Amino acid sequence: MKSSYDLENQYCAHNYHPLPVVLVRGKGVYVWDDRGRKYMDLMSAYSAVSHGHGHPRLVAALNKQAEILSIVSRAFYTDKLGSFLQLACNLTGQDMALPMNTGAEAVETAVKAARRWGYEIKGIPENKAEIIVCTGNFHGRTTTIISFSDEDEYQKNFGPLTPGFKVVTYGDSDALADAITANTAAFLVEPMQGEGGIIIPPDGYLKRCHKICRDKNVLLIADEIQTGLGRTGKFLACDHENVKPDALILGKALGGGILPVSMLLAKKEVMEIFVPGTHGSTFGGNPLAAAVGIEALNVIVEEQFAKRSYELGEYLLNEVAKIESPLIAEVRGSGLWVGIEVDPTLGSAREICERLMGRGILTKETHETVVRLAPPLIVEQEEIDWAVSQIKEVVAEMDKLRLAS
Ligand SMILES: *Cc1c(COP(=O)(O)O)cnc(C)c1O
Repeated sequence: MKSSYDLENQYCAHNYHPLPVVLVRGKGVYVWDDRGRKYMDLMSAYSAVSHGHGHPRLVAALNKQAEILSIVSRAFYTDKLGSFLQLACNLTGQDMALPMNTGAEAVETAVKAARRWGYEIKGIPENKAEIIVCTGNFHGRTTTIISFSDEDEYQKNFGPLTPGFKVVTYGDSDALADAITANTAAFLVEPMQGEGGIIIPPDGYLKRCHKICRDKNVLLIADEIQTGLGRTGKFLACDHENVKPDALILGKALGGGILPVSMLLAKKEVMEIFVPGTHGSTFGGNPLAAAVGIEALNVIVEEQFAKRSYELGEYLLNEVAKIESPLIAEVRGSGLWVGIEVDPTLGSAREICERLMGRGILTKETHETVVRLAPPLIVEQEEIDWAVSQIKEVVAEMDKLRLAS
């Protein structure tokens, strides 16, 4: 009989390069492999598992709703969707929401909303709307979204690409101001970049962008699929600068690490451009997802994820920054969302991840040179201490090997 590892390699498209471990179970901040070995999860499925694996309240909400009603489509009202979106709007200060499933779908929804708002409200001539995005952006993998990526790997041989996007340097608000024209509908930005390598822009960047957008009648759309819901130490990353965007995209942790749940939230003027027939999703807003989403948001608030992330994140960042090694070029982050930048001439982030795996810690490199530390937000300080001690030993081990060779 073939192993799970061999079967996945044979039958699953090779669009990822996973670490060689077969996971079979998860609980809280830990996962177990097929040989019963336990690992601390410092990946949290790209922040989708902020609640930890199998949070009891979320599993209960899932099971309860699955017994009652799961999927009916938006052809009908349900007793769950309105309360879910009301809660999401109240927590984010937005007026209305459009529920989808994956992050990329919610970004697509934002692109459609921005363009239609541009034509119908701002008065941009037909088919001329532009959306400005940033260097190093990551907003998902659909054909339109990869069209405005500046990552060659994401784009190559997937053309023809969707026009209507302009890329400006991330962190440079003057570049945004210069790029805006009468046809600019929106600026789509991650308040902090995740897949770009945990990049924190200069202080005041988002606030300056917000003002520029307001002055020029351009929508500010914040993609908080990864940064939102407590990950960076505030409920939203936009909260670090007290910015309320015109539209906001949530996903990942919104599904509590159990289901794919995403949404576009926006002020009324933007959301009202959608009328029956203009957009949709068979699964978006289904009662099962809504029930899990409600509980996911309640847990985030009641268990004070943002505060935990802020305090423990600061601790984690300080502890990692104390590790002395030429291998570590930089340590940066916000909340429980830390990136270790490795000096590529001395070692690879992948090797650190492989060595950490051998010591019972799972994480993954991003952009070859960055090791991501993003534990579930329920992690305890002693668990962070243990993880940091392992990282320290791995780095020391690699330093020693390098000097010996
Ligand atoms: C993960 C991510 C997406 C895409 O979400 P999917 O659920 O994978 O489609 C979009 N934007 C950001 C900022 C992300 O981190």
